[in-house]
Amino acid sequence: CSAEDGGGFARGELRRYGNIELSPSSGVLNYAQGLFEGMKAYRRPEQQAGGYTLFRPEENARRMQHGAARMCMPAPSVEQFVDAVKQTVLANKRWVPPQGKGALYLRPLLMGSGPILGLAPAPEYTFLVYAAPVGNYFKEGLAPINLVVDDEFHRAMPGGTGGVKTIANYAPVLRAQMDAKSKGFTDVLYLDSVHKRYLEEVSSCNVFVVKGGVVATPATRGTILPGITRKSVIELAGDRGYKVEERLVSIDDLIDADEVFCTGTAVVVAPVSTVTYRGQRHEFRTGPDTLSQELYTTLTSIQMGVAEDSKGWTVAV
Ligand code: PMP
Repeated sequence: CSAEDGGGFARGELRRYGNIELSPSSGVLNYAQGLFEGMKAYRRPEQQAGGYTLFRPEENARRMQHGAARMCMPAPSVEQFVDAVKQTVLANKRWVPPQGKGALYLRPLLMGSGPILGLAPAPEYTFLVYAAPVGNYFKEGLAPINLVVDDEFHRAMPGGTGGVKTIANYAPVLRAQMDAKSKGFTDVLYLDSVHKRYLEEVSSCNVFVVKGGVVATPATRGTILPGITRKSVIELAGDRGYKVEERLVSIDDLIDADEVFCTGTAVVVAPVSTVTYRGQRHEFRTGPDTLSQELYTTLTSIQMGVAEDSKGWTVAV
């Protein structure tokens, strides 16, 4: 779409996966004017005539619209976004993931594709969706993960773009993530950049701590991504009688917790077995009778079409 004609997106077309052409002076290449989403299409059991299930796709559409406003970009309508995702799934329906072991990952991208030399929003925008088969996000699969708290690197700052899914948020993460992996950790848990005391999130998932019957997760204050899995898990934990608090969660709250877990489209719900902070390793409960295991089972059963979706979260394709 062109910014001049009011930002309406023209009807798109299906193309084989391949390179796209971009101006060297495009807004996305020079000023990181880009946003993306991450979604999965789950294969329904064969007894339900196959097909795919999307999980709350209109939430991804709205998150992209919210991000686009922050990034001075026009965004596709919710209908256009969901339709493009559905068309991409349908175009790939011949690929059948092993039941329960894989999904079709979908990556909607919105970028300033038009040329702009001086710092300003681009004159043209491109919205596209591509798909790739995925298995488990962490190579450990559902096995508990080991995080390290980083108080040197930060992924976001107050007033910045940490609350939207812009491509530039992932650049500060790479160095910290590589260092953590080289030391044998699964991923990094970031602290807030002002007090270096409050939990933010992991590179690509949100974090929860459980103590007794209380589940706490960092409030979204513009520095963490409001995850769709996070929102769903807050509701599911509440349904199970847990008191769920969205608030400042300090590193001391985490150290004192019984259980810690991460949520995201890619990981769904990942139990955390250890968190290393300033050289000290802290251990947490994992295994069959934990809340994270229960939430994982409930959520994946809804997503895979095995359990009844009483909340209307799934969309059949
Ligand atoms: N935080 C970040 C930084 C992420 O990239 C993601 C993945 N989109 C999440 C949290 C989890 O969000 P969701 O549950 O919507 O996948």
